[in-house]
Amino acid sequence: MPDPASFSFTVNSRLEGRHGRTGVIRTPHGDIQTPAFTPVGTKATVKAVLPEAMKELGAQAVLANAYHLYLQPGPDIVDEAGGLGKFMNWAGPTFTDSGGFQVMSLGVGFKKVLAMEAVGVRSDDVIAKGKERLAVVDDDGVTFRSHLDGSKHRFTPEVSMSIQHRLGADVMFAFDELTTLLNTRAYQEKSLQRTHEWAQRCIDAHERLTAERAHRPYQALFAVIQGAQYEDLRRKACRDLEAMRGAGGTGFDGYGIGGALEKHNLGTIVGWCCDELPEDKPRHLLGISEPEDIFVAVENGADTFDCVNPSRVARNAALYVAEGRFNINTSRFRRDFTPIDETCDCYTCAHYTRAYIHHLFKAKEMLASTLCTIHNERFTVRLVDDIRASIDDGRFDEFKAEFFGRWRGRLRQE
Ligand SMILES: [Zn+2]
Repeated sequence: MPDPASFSFTVNSRLEGRHGRTGVIRTPHGDIQTPAFTPVGTKATVKAVLPEAMKELGAQAVLANAYHLYLQPGPDIVDEAGGLGKFMNWAGPTFTDSGGFQVMSLGVGFKKVLAMEAVGVRSDDVIAKGKERLAVVDDDGVTFRSHLDGSKHRFTPEVSMSIQHRLGADVMFAFDELTTLLNTRAYQEKSLQRTHEWAQRCIDAHERLTAERAHRPYQALFAVIQGAQYEDLRRKACRDLEAMRGAGGTGFDGYGIGGALEKHNLGTIVGWCCDELPEDKPRHLLGISEPEDIFVAVENGADTFDCVNPSRVARNAALYVAEGRFNINTSRFRRDFTPIDETCDCYTCAHYTRAYIHHLFKAKEMLASTLCTIHNERFTVRLVDDIRASIDDGRFDEFKAEFFGRWRGRLRQE
């Protein structure tokens, strides 16, 4: 029987008067010093970069996507390979999300809503209008069509658990219903109840699968907290999920904070959740990577977070430096023979100039994506490493003030 004790979390130091803390998550594939940024390798690869380079730039864990790996190559192949880490030649800890986000995003085409651009719309009916509905949610699960070939599939909590067990990541997430800020309060309440019932089914399936797959290392299961922007719903969700047990007594190993979050209330919502959640379990915030969001998330108690953004924007020539984000495509860099960032310790900055990277983008060379992804992932990982050190040294507020003394967000393009 896989040993649940092979997954644990200990707190090292705390931010006075706030939920922020540093700690260590122990997994069967190694430790994660928290807070930690987890780069995303959607299809079992961080696009354009070798796993060795991800390790060298300080990534402690990677997160892959259950929906994408279910469609291609299929969870049985990943299982046969020895699990996600072995399959992709990544020796460290791995995470998989439940697939719910991707599957349900197909239903309503509301990625823009999640990108926090919804203003003044408050009807459940509005969401699907004018969109081709690729997914339909009912109380038992979600029926959807593949974005690859249009074939029909169905995810339930049990299916998601079965897929994630075969993918074999150290941390898995319970299958939850995704709502948006466009949904009404009444729908959010109904959805929360559904997510709660699905969480119970996930934990039961997880217990059964853990016992059946005794030859594999223990996989931890995180619940996902929904409740949108409503304080009472968020707090209730946390309390209910904390109390939840499988038939054999298994509780959740950690918590994911998901759902509709707007930038301006991110800290408040994370704070409500961390008020309620147990101190001795890790908390993952799904899908953030902008420096402003990272500081707010850590300060309010998030231990790990993932985001596809640093690598996605890198492939579009957007680069992060201490002053902000800029685009290397613009012509002012044609003869700039300095590194992307003089103060960066990444492989790209040690060996290449802005002029060269500008040229690679103009010439549509693949190496541009590789070099820029390495830099952006290093920027994000290092920022979180520095935040962690500042908490341990009792100088988080000074470090934050220093960082935002330089940071100006999106830099103007000349
Ligand atoms: Zn760099």
